[in-house]
Amino acid sequence: MQNELLAWFAREGLLLTSVITASDDPEHDEIKIIVKAPVLALSRADSDFRECPDPVLFGYPESSLEMMVLEDMHQFVFSWFERAVAAGMARCFVCNKLLVPNDEKPWDAVFVSEQFYCWLLLHFDCKRYLARDLKGRNPFEVQTQPPEFFDLSVE
Ligand SMILES: [Zn+2]
Repeated sequence: MQNELLAWFAREGLLLTSVITASDDPEHDEIKIIVKAPVLALSRADSDFRECPDPVLFGYPESSLEMMVLEDMHQFVFSWFERAVAAGMARCFVCNKLLVPNDEKPWDAVFVSEQFYCWLLLHFDCKRYLARDLKGRNPFEVQTQPPEFFDLSVE
């Protein structure tokens, strides 16, 4: 993840930090600070978490991050998710059903700020069960893959 995007998340107060004293040897006390930016979940599976795509790599102008507010980021992430759904890669975080465009059961992208910061997709009907499915997740144990590249340009 580019520093500019990390700085943007820091500005929005969306970085989690964890301090680890990672040493058994008291003479070499090492303190590590781990920073965790918000992630995206294509499903609840461990292999389906993605780093947040960087708007600049998806065609936004270099200066756009300075101008972006959280609402813009939500929209950007949502357009990425729409492409993921169209590509048949996204599942409801709660019931794990494959999401399709114009599904009979409407779905939505939400930004979770409990436990950790994460955008995910789920059916409207499944929203009430979300808290249960987030319980006990440790953001620092979530392994993320780089996000898929989708063409987000408007046709
Ligand atoms: Zn569902």
